[in-house]
Amino acid sequence: MENHTGETWCQKHLADQQLFQLLEKVDADFAEEARQQGCPFCGGKLHRADYDRKPRGGPQWDWRYSFCCAKEDCRRRRTPPSVRFLGRKVYAGVVVVLVSTMVHGLNEERVRRIRQLLGR
Ligand SMILES: [Zn+2]
Repeated sequence: MENHTGETWCQKHLADQQLFQLLEKVDADFAEEARQQGCPFCGGKLHRADYDRKPRGGPQWDWRYSFCCAKEDCRRRRTPPSVRFLGRKVYAGVVVVLVSTMVHGLNEERVRRIRQLLGR
């Protein structure tokens, strides 16, 4: 027998899972965009060099996308913006936009809002 509380928890949990997947995808897109742009200092090719975050208990977010310039004399790091590793305030703003994106679909305005919230 299902009670109301159990059902609510289940729905919330499902929504969380979808949100996590969406956040993951947004970060992957930002990372890919950064990689394609190359090194902002010398224009060199970027190699993956993800940060190991090592938090316990998160939804498998143990690392953050990051890149390292492949040129010997540069080797600078470039870390693309992340919706998963934000300050609380910005995170709350992004989640609001992302949730409406999940419900109503992606459009130019929502992409613009997300970018604005991430400061790009
Ligand atoms: Zn470089």
